[in-house]
Amino acid sequence: MKLDVNVLRYLSKDDFRVLTAVEMGMRNHEIVPVELIDRIASLRHGGTYKVLKNLLKHKLLHHDSSKYDGFRLTYLGYDFLAIKTLVNRGVFSSVGRQIGVGKESDIFEVANEEGEIMAMKLHRLGRTSFRAVKSKRDYLRHRSSFSWLYLSRLAALKEFAFMKALQEHGFPVPNAVDCNRHCVIMSLVQGYPLVQVKELQNTNTIFEKIIGIIVRLAEHGLIHCDFNEFNIMIDDDEKITIIDFPQMVSVSHRNAEMYFDRDVECIIKFFSKRFNLSFEADAGDSDSDSDAESDSIKPRFSSIKKASGFLDKELSASGFSRKEQADIEKFTLEKIPGSDDEEIEEEEDEGDNSNSTSDIQNFDSLCSLTNDEDQVKACGNGGKVEEEEDQQQ
Ligand code: ADP
Ligand code: MG
Repeated sequence: MKLDVNVLRYLSKDDFRVLTAVEMGMRNHEIVPVELIDRIASLRHGGTYKVLKNLLKHKLLHHDSSKYDGFRLTYLGYDFLAIKTLVNRGVFSSVGRQIGVGKESDIFEVANEEGEIMAMKLHRLGRTSFRAVKSKRDYLRHRSSFSWLYLSRLAALKEFAFMKALQEHGFPVPNAVDCNRHCVIMSLVQGYPLVQVKELQNTNTIFEKIIGIIVRLAEHGLIHCDFNEFNIMIDDDEKITIIDFPQMVSVSHRNAEMYFDRDVECIIKFFSKRFNLSFEADAGDSDSDSDAESDSIKPRFSSIKKASGFLDKELSASGFSRKEQADIEKFTLEKIPGSDDEEIEEEEDEGDNSNSTSDIQNFDSLCSLTNDEDQVKACGNGGKVEEEEDQQQ
């Protein structure tokens, strides 16, 4: 997605007030009626209409008059709300180039006033498709209005909570800096995804380290569920960092063993293909028995001493309800081999997809933004917009 943050400079307090009003209206409206936006924003002299036109021009809103006159946020509109909030908090002051395009996220460099560069991950659940089980489709039908906003926000919140907890438990993950709406700010990982690496100095050591992380996660009650060469970063000193956490599950999940085995298999397959790691030879010197052989490379889920409750504890500490956990799991865990998952046709993208997602751009500094007042707080008189802001954090 093209993220022309320059637009932010030209948006006024009223623009943000109306944008926030649309966001609030989307809690229970797929398309928010203009009258409702006007009522929530309560600008003087009927200014809402003029502002809506401006937001539409900048593609922060989408206009829909098929049933009634109304608007909804685009991804860009939601991005701007999150960016604005984080800039106002002083977390960063400029947005740089795009450094990653994930399946359902865009990652940009951002910098704070001290020039420290960090990574900003904007979650885009449901951007491309909901290749999902039928139940997801039914589920979406009932709350389609909210799906990508709601799910992307949950994904960000979960990712942030896990990154923080994992870091506190000594796992090699980025430093979780802050989170707002669908946006997570974390430290920038030096190095590259393992998928880009053609050669390693210490192949065996790295392999063991990675398998060791899977085991240690399980000992802490967790399974990554997307543990592969795309989500493992490695630097020139062959230091490993694990990223991408929204799909993690508890070891008490009903498919836990399968997810665990799949993570392990992924790594074994990659290492044998890419680095020609010969597993027979490694295990052979310890034992010739075939079971013991595979066990020494391939940890068994059943023989790991697992802690329980970690996930529940960390998630509830971050304000996650059980229902939210279930909701996010439904959308982040895909294609369970051997289960009765059924792929469905692609759902239409709900965000504004008029810009290419692969555009990589350089952006001017956003420094001027930090001089702005906090738009939301500036709404004053304990207005509804202010309440909403508190809940979004
Ligand atoms: P997705 O959930 O969409 O797969 P990821 O979190 O895996 O998103 O990020 C996608 C890509 O962005 C990664 O493969 C990596 O190249 C880059 N990336 C993500 N986080 C960081 C980070 N903290 N530092 C540097 N690069 C990152
Ligand atoms: Mg990833």
